Amino acid sequence: MADIIPEAIEAYARGHTRALSPLLHELEAETRARFADRAGMLTGPLEAAFLQFLVAAIGARRVLEIGTFTGYSALAMAEALPPDGELVTCDINEDTTAVARSYWARSPHGTKITVRLGPALDTLSGLAPERPFDFVFLDADKEHYPDYYRRLMPLLRTGGLLAADNVLWSGRVLNPERASDRALVAFNELVLGDRAATNVLVTVRDGIMLVRKH
Ligand code: SAH
Ligand code: CA
Repeated sequence: MADIIPEAIEAYARGHTRALSPLLHELEAETRARFADRAGMLTGPLEAAFLQFLVAAIGARRVLEIGTFTGYSALAMAEALPPDGELVTCDINEDTTAVARSYWARSPHGTKITVRLGPALDTLSGLAPERPFDFVFLDADKEHYPDYYRRLMPLLRTGGLLAADNVLWSGRVLNPERASDRALVAFNELVLGDRAATNVLVTVRDGIMLVRKH
C-alpha cells in the first residue's frame, strides 16, 4: 500500500493519539517480521485507535469483521467492547488466523472473539439478521466489496455503523485500471447512492468509508 498521508503527518497524528496496549504493539511487530510481504495489510496504530474510538463511542456490543489477517484490528476492537461484548471475524487463511488466535489467547479480551474460517460471503449467508451487529469492519478482498455491502447492511442494526477500509486504494480510485480499483469505485458509488444510509469518506490512512444505517 502506497501511503497517501505524508509520514511526518501520520507520525504526528499517532503521537497525539492515546497509546495502544503493549500486546497490540507486539502483534504489529511480529506481523511485520513474519509476513513482511503482506505487512501493508495491517490496519496500523492510528486506524486501530480510530476503530476502538468508534466502537466505544457507539457503545457497540456486537462487532463483525470481514478480514482477520493476524488479528490486529480484531484485538483492538475487542479491547473496546464491554466484558460481555462479542466479535465475529472472518478469514480464509489458516496460517495467519493461527497467529491471531495465539495473540487473542494472551489477552483478557480474547474470549470475546470468534473466528469463522472460509469465504466470508458463505459465512455471511449463515448469520441471522435477528441478531444484528452494532458495528461492522469490512477489510477483506476488495473485488467483493459491493457484494459484501449488500450482504452486510441487512446484518447491521438501525443506527449501526459500517467502516470499510482502503476505499481510496492508494489513490487508484481516481484512475481505476485493475479489477480491484474498479470494485472500490463501484463500492464508493454504491454507498453514496444508498438511500437507507448516510456516509462520510474519511481520509484516515488509506481512506475509510463510514456508513450509518438509518
Ligand atoms: N483487518 C486486518 C487486515 C485484513 S487483510 C488487520 O487490520 O490487521 C485482508 C484479509 O482478508 C486477509 O487476511 C485475507 O486472507 C482475507 N480474505 C481474502 N479473501 C477473503 C474471503 N473471500 N473471505 C474471507 N477473508 C478473505
Ligand atoms: Ca485494510
